[in-house]
Amino acid sequence: MKFVLVSGGVISGIGKGLTASSLGVLLKCCGWRVTSIKIDPYINVDAGTMSPFEHGEVFVLDDGGEVDLDLGNYERFLDINLTSESNITTGKIYQQVIEKERQGMYLGKTVQVIPHVTDAIQDWILRVSKKPVDDSGLPPEICVIELGGTVGDIESMPFVEALRQLKYHVGEDNFCSVFVSLVPELGVVGEQKTKPTQHGVKNLSSMGLSPQLIVCRSERPLLAETKQKLGLFCQVPPEAVVSVHDVSNTFRIPLMLQEQGVCNLLIRSLKLVWRLPTLLER
Ligand code: ADP
Repeated sequence: MKFVLVSGGVISGIGKGLTASSLGVLLKCCGWRVTSIKIDPYINVDAGTMSPFEHGEVFVLDDGGEVDLDLGNYERFLDINLTSESNITTGKIYQQVIEKERQGMYLGKTVQVIPHVTDAIQDWILRVSKKPVDDSGLPPEICVIELGGTVGDIESMPFVEALRQLKYHVGEDNFCSVFVSLVPELGVVGEQKTKPTQHGVKNLSSMGLSPQLIVCRSERPLLAETKQKLGLFCQVPPEAVVSVHDVSNTFRIPLMLQEQGVCNLLIRSLKLVWRLPTLLER
């Protein structure tokens, strides 16, 4: 099993969900069975009790699970059927850990965020990532995990640590970290500012999850010099800095990523072997 982690910085709502779905589409078009997991670090057990004014409409899955809207994107983009377990929240993890503690399953140990909560998160991801989600009935080969919120938030810390440990356990060749960031344009000339992304990447790297791919949301396509600069300061080749600028139709995002060579980058990073013929070449 290979994992693609999509996290984000600077602000929330920059398109992590769409990026994660689009990366899934590319991998699926290259011939792999893809599933996805969305992590929402809030304490609500699910999105069913959350105000649509604050959070957008709840998405209802086939099993009745009331989840974040992004799960709808995954189902539509990837043509898969997810279950309520595909949406992990702090509430769900703590509920499980506290129930286990009440049943005495920790054998008198002091139950702590590390290792008990982080282990529960990893076990959940490993279990759910193997569940068949498409018509083939076969277990998926790649799991795209989206970490909601922004890296550095207090509430996402246990998840970041669990994902770092997951990367350690599955090995670097089976784990690709993707960072989605904002590149604002300032001034009349519209200079593309890279500092927020540099700080975001530094923060993520300090937690052991240095990105192999940086996806930049910007108003206009990223300039070559912006990619060069971000590559230099974020320790990735310039071709691993890709632009997801504003589009009128978000279904164009997978193509936008493909045109910038993201398929090759993922294949190289995850040490995958090309499966031909790919849908992208038809
Ligand atoms: P996040 O997962 O980071 O909260 P989403 O993927 O849910 O972000 O996207 C937030 C909003 O931004 C959605 O309404 C989505 O349609 C819009 N959006 C994301 N990327 C783009 C883009 N490249 N062009 C136009 N709108 C976008």
